[in-house]
Amino acid sequence: MKTKYSDLIATTRQAFASGVTRDIEFRKCQLKALYRFLVDNESLIVSALNEDLRKPSFETRMAEIDFCLNDILGQLFNIDKYVSRKTVPKTLVTIADNPFILPEPYGLVLIIGAWNYPIQVTLSPLIGAIAAGNVVFVKPSELSPMTAKLFHELLPKYLDNRCFHIVLGDAEDTKQLLTEQFDYIFFTGSNRVGRIVHQSAAQHLTPATLELGGKSPLYIDDSLPDMEMGWRRILWAKMINAGQTCVAPDYILCTASVQKTLIPIATKILKQFFGDNPKESPDFGRIVSDRHFERLEKLLSTSGKAVIGGDIDLTDRYISPTILFDVEPTDSIMQEEIFGPILPVIVVKDVTEAIDFVNKREKPLTLYIFSTQQQVIDKFLKETSSGSICVNDAMIQLTIDSLPFGGVGNSGIGAYHGMYSFETFSHQKSVLIRGFNPFLEWVGSKRYPPYSDNRLKRLLRLLRKRRSIIPENIMYYIVFILGFITCFLYNQFE
Ligand code: NAD
Repeated sequence: MKTKYSDLIATTRQAFASGVTRDIEFRKCQLKALYRFLVDNESLIVSALNEDLRKPSFETRMAEIDFCLNDILGQLFNIDKYVSRKTVPKTLVTIADNPFILPEPYGLVLIIGAWNYPIQVTLSPLIGAIAAGNVVFVKPSELSPMTAKLFHELLPKYLDNRCFHIVLGDAEDTKQLLTEQFDYIFFTGSNRVGRIVHQSAAQHLTPATLELGGKSPLYIDDSLPDMEMGWRRILWAKMINAGQTCVAPDYILCTASVQKTLIPIATKILKQFFGDNPKESPDFGRIVSDRHFERLEKLLSTSGKAVIGGDIDLTDRYISPTILFDVEPTDSIMQEEIFGPILPVIVVKDVTEAIDFVNKREKPLTLYIFSTQQQVIDKFLKETSSGSICVNDAMIQLTIDSLPFGGVGNSGIGAYHGMYSFETFSHQKSVLIRGFNPFLEWVGSKRYPPYSDNRLKRLLRLLRKRRSIIPENIMYYIVFILGFITCFLYNQFE
């Protein structure tokens, strides 16, 4: 079925077929153009995000612009290595041959972005897709309209217009887009829409990465040398972007003794962060839409007891930094990802109960442990499953781009950042180039008919996996000499 995107998709496919994106210099040139887009338009980007989310300039520069600039630099520094063929260990019968992995671009990629970090979660996949040599359709979120508009108006001035397109639209437009055939889909967003995207991708057998959300638990015990330092890290990660961060700690699991000390410490830290009235702080964001505000308001009014905060103002979409005690696992706030500045505290007996609590729920995007007890850390590492684990800090794991970033189970499929972005957007093509070594041909000739049990036995013995005692390069020379001798003998007796 033809859609309003079909013609543009056809011409973009032609651009890919022309081979222009296979050229590494072209890719580098596009990445540098994207870098210039971010540098040239820094103040416009800061204003757009401020309008969309009241995002403080500090957060935009740190977690959006600078994040992407570093991402581009990482790809530029490493692209020559990433695109090169990777040699692999050989078997005995292919010792003189040339097997390798050649990364190749998928072709036409669709990137669907979310609104909470609208620069980072939209451009970071784009950076990976460009580095890997694809042509790309980018669909930013309609819930961050100023950022989407900025992309639409300015990115075409920087990027190649044959290969890269920004398409604006809402859920209905995205649904239409998804009926088209892409070669790869990269989606960031909710689990609900992730399922829709995955089903659409399956119609065309299109591979997809799903960067989803969910409830990321945080366990804290009383072994920290400085509890205040621990809570400062936690509250920063929870309150940045007014809690609308996919890797924000969603809820706290701790013992009663830890909970008892929390109120004075958290009150002090939040005052240091946002002053007496967080509503007046330029460093505290707002909820993205009325719908999300109403959702959070309902969660707040039906769960636990606010021991800090709990103030709301619809006209400003403001929810103050809030901590909830007496939260029951059955409360509404524990049934969905919070995605707001509300932190429920659940009291558990010990680490075993905390792990049990985590394991009874969907696999989280990330899991936080605040403890200096090695046996506690090891227990979480061994007995739980999550996209990532960060011990004694929160969100900082994202700054290490040598770690893959992604979920598992309900929190997502696939991963990216750094080298993993390049790999995500590349098909790892297996290649074997064989030679005509006469000795190896003689060795492998058992595969040819007429078949016999004896031939099969010898062939299977030859193919059996075994630990190599002789290094591969020495083996290569042995086979080369044997090949030479075989050839000589063959010529002698012919
Ligand atoms: P969302 O799922 O509502 O929207 C994401 C995108 O999907 C948008 O571009 C939107 O236009 C599109 N969309 C919405 N409804 C659709 C439909 N019915 N059919 C097709 N497309 C549709 O998510 P959101 O509210 O933008 O983002 C918040 C969610 O994203 C949270 O769950 C958060 O945890 C998650 N998130 C995850 C990451 C990550 O890297 N894992 C990063 C940021 C946000």
